[in-house]
Amino acid sequence: MSHDFPSYRGHMEYRCLGCGTRRPGDSLLYTCPDCGGVFLLENTDFAALKEHDGQYWRDLFDARLSTRTTALRGVFTYYDLLAPIFDEEDIVYLGEAHTPVVDASPALQARVGIPFAYKNDGQNPSASFKDRGMACAFSCLKWLCRSNSWDEVLTVCASTGDTSAAAALYAAYVGSPLKSVVLLPHGKVTPQQLAQPLGSGATVLELPGVFDDCMKVVEILAENYRVALLNSKNAWRILGQESFAYETAQWYGWDVSNLCLFVPVGNAGNITAIMNGFLKMLDLGIITSLPRIFGVQSEHADPVYRYYSAPAETRVWEPVTVRPSVAQAAMIGNPVSFPRVRELAERFIQTGGERAFQVVQVTEQQIMDAMIQANRHGHIVCTQGGETLAGLMNARALGLVGEGERAVLDSTAHQLKFSGFQNMYFSNTFPPEYGVRPDPSLANMPELVLPESEREGKSVAEFAKLGARAVADRLKLAGK
Ligand SMILES: *Cc1c(COP(=O)(O)O)cnc(C)c1O
Ligand SMILES: [Zn+2]
Repeated sequence: MSHDFPSYRGHMEYRCLGCGTRRPGDSLLYTCPDCGGVFLLENTDFAALKEHDGQYWRDLFDARLSTRTTALRGVFTYYDLLAPIFDEEDIVYLGEAHTPVVDASPALQARVGIPFAYKNDGQNPSASFKDRGMACAFSCLKWLCRSNSWDEVLTVCASTGDTSAAAALYAAYVGSPLKSVVLLPHGKVTPQQLAQPLGSGATVLELPGVFDDCMKVVEILAENYRVALLNSKNAWRILGQESFAYETAQWYGWDVSNLCLFVPVGNAGNITAIMNGFLKMLDLGIITSLPRIFGVQSEHADPVYRYYSAPAETRVWEPVTVRPSVAQAAMIGNPVSFPRVRELAERFIQTGGERAFQVVQVTEQQIMDAMIQANRHGHIVCTQGGETLAGLMNARALGLVGEGERAVLDSTAHQLKFSGFQNMYFSNTFPPEYGVRPDPSLANMPELVLPESEREGKSVAEFAKLGARAVADRLKLAGK
């Protein structure tokens, strides 16, 4: 074991958010066998961490940034706060986490009116934040396989695209006894997202319908067959996603007092993990106040927005039927983590005040315009990253975010995964259901400056002269 691997071990338990039952963490559980509720994983020994003060933890995590122990380089930089039960040999590290926080370009900041940055979670190994959760979930699976001597485990997930890409990648890396199966809604993931699990060698099964339909199928499988479910209901995944909060706080010198985080909300696993992460840090004195968290939803898939936009006394939880959304990875009408949202939003507001947790709504048009603008200013955001920028702009327009505050936008996946939507924008080929009208001044298409026939029958030197003249004419270059 490396000399800097922690010796502290906690004790993990699942706590059901429906009925409050607790169950040991060393089993594969997704929903409560008593009431069907979702779980949060808790370290029942968390209080032992309070033997140290906030400064101790800040120093420790700052020191870990330079470790050569790979098990402590990714999400487990924060081992003690996540799942302090694994041994070093259990931990799977594929280079995930510690994604860069990139200040928005000066011109883009000027348009928006306050300082802000993107945290580029698209720079994770499978190009989305889902790797944070998978690093934790697969470490857990390795730990369980080792402790129970399991000889075969089939990992299954339904996906809007990125979960399956991440699950297939980590399963392929770990290898035997794990095997990956992914269930996708036919025609509802991008070609890049489909290529990823295929390339990792997963069994890819498609079903007609949307994500919510696939999720129901996977739930029946998990209840009746021996499979390891890797959806947002897997509390180990959500746990790993807390690392986004730890990294953000660390990047800002553990002072998040004037930060506003914008997070796209689909199944709501990510936003709840982030809130839980900040609450844990506050509890240990690692930070002394909470940041503000803004969930962002498209008006085509906005159940969480609708819930919170009603006055507190009249709120009723109702799933919605989704309409096609460019923020396809968040196109979810019945988020499985909604009970987690309710619990964590309440705790966040109790501690940080009414303004500590809010949800804003954006249009499909705003998402696309914002994504295109961000990328034209040197960013690499996907449609969900466009959604968070649109969310910030709407929050500004509504007076929810003022001068003196600083925003951090979660860019949840890489631009390249969603380039099909960029193509539709540039070529004005959006199906009408999306309701997106491209701004023609932003369209960008390749231009062929010479016909194919001009290459034929010429030497390289002859063609180079011809080509250079055609380019110089097109650009109206001045001679020198
Ligand atoms: C999964 C995903 C989301 C939605 O996250 P949830 O945890 O389901 O709310 C947003 N953006 C991208 C790129 C995703 O892959
Ligand atoms: Zn229960």
